Amino acid sequence: MSSGSSSGDEDEGMDSYRKGGYHAVRVADTFAGGRYIAQRKLGWGHFSTVWLAYYHPQLKYVALKIQKSAPEFAQSAIHEINILSALTQHDPDNRKCVIRLLDHFKHTGPNGQHYCMVFELLGDSILKLIKYNRYKGLPLNKVKDICRCILTALDYIHRQLGIIHTDLKPENILLVSTINPSNDLVRSKTCPIVSKPEGGVNNGGGLVVNAIERKLKQRARQAAARITARRASLGGVRPVTKDDRCLDGIDFRCKVVDFGNACWGNRPYADEIQTRQYRAPEVILQSGYSYSADMWSFGCTVFELATGEMMFAPKTGQSFSQDEDHLALMMEMLGKMPRKIAVGGLRSKDYFDRYGDLKRIRRLKHCPLTCLLTDKFKFSVHDVRDFADFLIPILDFVPEKRPTAQQCLQHPWLNKSSESDVQKLDSQMSELQFK
Ligand code: ATP
Ligand code: MG
Repeated sequence: MSSGSSSGDEDEGMDSYRKGGYHAVRVADTFAGGRYIAQRKLGWGHFSTVWLAYYHPQLKYVALKIQKSAPEFAQSAIHEINILSALTQHDPDNRKCVIRLLDHFKHTGPNGQHYCMVFELLGDSILKLIKYNRYKGLPLNKVKDICRCILTALDYIHRQLGIIHTDLKPENILLVSTINPSNDLVRSKTCPIVSKPEGGVNNGGGLVVNAIERKLKQRARQAAARITARRASLGGVRPVTKDDRCLDGIDFRCKVVDFGNACWGNRPYADEIQTRQYRAPEVILQSGYSYSADMWSFGCTVFELATGEMMFAPKTGQSFSQDEDHLALMMEMLGKMPRKIAVGGLRSKDYFDRYGDLKRIRRLKHCPLTCLLTDKFKFSVHDVRDFADFLIPILDFVPEKRPTAQQCLQHPWLNKSSESDVQKLDSQMSELQFK
């Protein structure tokens, strides 16, 4: 499912602000008897809008998710709250890299009654980080840091709680902070808005809101300039070339969010799960799925972090469907699907003949993952060897053969430095020596 953040190029669409739909929020609106005060919109999804709010009793910022009000959205909010409560309850020390639910309540407005969830405030999504890095692929040591967090979360939800996320992707992994400190209200110590400005409501609310938002942004910019100046004075800023983005100072710790589609492992309830590009073969073929479907999405996400490009971006063709193209792309990169797996699903007959060959895409252009990484993405032979050794088993067509999150956490790739990182470190060290 797609969703956006306030800085994205799409918005949630005004026509969904109607009975059964979104609740319209204005800056300084209060919730739960004045406990939460709306500051600005952080993002939105098909089910909700998410607002930065100030939690007055504890003087801190939180993320307030306000669900659409129609019964099906209320139902899914109740389900999400159940899952989130389990996640938070069993992780008292906040070490499992999953979003924390702090509170929940109902709020009645002109469009109906809305379930509201209060979360700890997190930063930008990993998708935004990939875009920020101009789709170039992150250094492998950063990829490893992110992988450790995602795997910690998956191991926790799979093994300890028996939950399948079912929609793991870069958009649903949030950094604990923002990429740019000027957007981080906590780090930049921006003052909260606690009351509506005088005469605000009668005095053309929109204009007042804009003025407040401008002021907030200005204050954040000033604070960010202070942070950057302080960092520079500590010698923390490295010179950046024209098309390289500086990743220094970014906190790469992250958490898995959006449990709106998650399910209990013993009760998978939807046939079609996962966002297209991260969808596992057993889901396309409808052969039944389990925790290992999340591992497939994890594999696709890791590839995207390391290369900046989606692993599979299938398209519909004149003579074949998007599903068939997807299966073809998988086999081009990972080899032929074992016949038993290919023909074993409820939908297998739509795509495969009885020999396990695709019906409508007869000629596959083989391009193994290792060749792609060396030829197209210019990874060193060493880096490819170690990385592929980690990644390829996660993308096994046989779900039961995929390693678990727990096993992945033990893999040597996560526990030693990559050659490219060692070289970078070496050259930084020698630069320092010559200064
Ligand atoms: P979807 O259509 O993806 O199911 P949804 O309505 O369930 O969306 P979420 O995905 O939970 O909503 O949140 C929507 C957006 O709000 C996220 O993509 C993110 O930009 C922002 N967001 C959500 N939770 C937080 C948080 N804790 N801190 C900061 N931003 C958040
Ligand atoms: Mg989402």
